[in-house]
Amino acid sequence: MYELIKVGDNTYYIDSPVKMGIFLVNNSDVYLIDSGNDKSVGKKIKKILDENNWNLKAIINTHSHADHIGGNRELQNKTNCEIYSIGVESSFINNTILESSLLYGGYPLKKLRNKFLMAKESKSENIENVKLPEGFEYFKIPGHSIEMIGIKTSDDIYFIADSLFSENVLNKYHIMYLYNIEKHLKTLDDLEKLEGKLFIPAHGNATDDIKELIELNRDKTYEIMNKIIKICEIPISFEDILQNIFNVYNLNMDMNQYVLVGNTIKSYISYLCDNGKLEFHVIDNKILYKEVENG
Ligand SMILES: [Zn+2]
Repeated sequence: MYELIKVGDNTYYIDSPVKMGIFLVNNSDVYLIDSGNDKSVGKKIKKILDENNWNLKAIINTHSHADHIGGNRELQNKTNCEIYSIGVESSFINNTILESSLLYGGYPLKKLRNKFLMAKESKSENIENVKLPEGFEYFKIPGHSIEMIGIKTSDDIYFIADSLFSENVLNKYHIMYLYNIEKHLKTLDDLEKLEGKLFIPAHGNATDDIKELIELNRDKTYEIMNKIIKICEIPISFEDILQNIFNVYNLNMDMNQYVLVGNTIKSYISYLCDNGKLEFHVIDNKILYKEVENG
């Protein structure tokens, strides 16, 4: 764990539960792609940088989820590095209460202001205003997160963040966090067009062919949509849809899962309503969702 793997002349990744990338601009200056779960990961990254005499120029955060930005503060404090992400993701990195607020849908209770949903804040800038080194490019892959980006290095290596999950992860957790279903499906189509030497999903194995993985992720998305539509054969509240989903997939309810899976199911409901598959009714001061006949 936390082994440094070389995958190109200037490109490495750190093998860990959230894979992180390293891009060498020259013999000493490096860019880091994502910073892991927390301060302890930040320290592990710092050790790797020191062992190789690498100077951390900047961290690029693919998105603002806590498991991708958790090492930011430690590394920024120790190295004074810049931190770049895109648009609203940068705003979330600078104000991490926004993440747990988005998930909860209001000011989050203390139980939700934890390191899994709310990393320590760091100072991030919008990557759109920054000149990156030659051959080091970002591309937009929204859906899982509001404005997630991937990174392509000059070695033709693609870091594709949380746009694709491995078959194991899909089969174990089923409901992968998604903020925007329409954009997620578009991102899957866009990924299909990429040609590269190696693709590195943050939560999956590096692979030279992502076609099969894209198919699996797309199938799982439609599987969940169809499950929700089936659950809505009778008018049903959000809470009851969620309970059904937890039962169908044998998931364990706790407060973190309630907001992560719940938020994702709400995004699915929005997509299905917007596409004429579900409609909502107000009955006895309750919002109930119902399948649209012939929708
Ligand atoms: Zn994520």
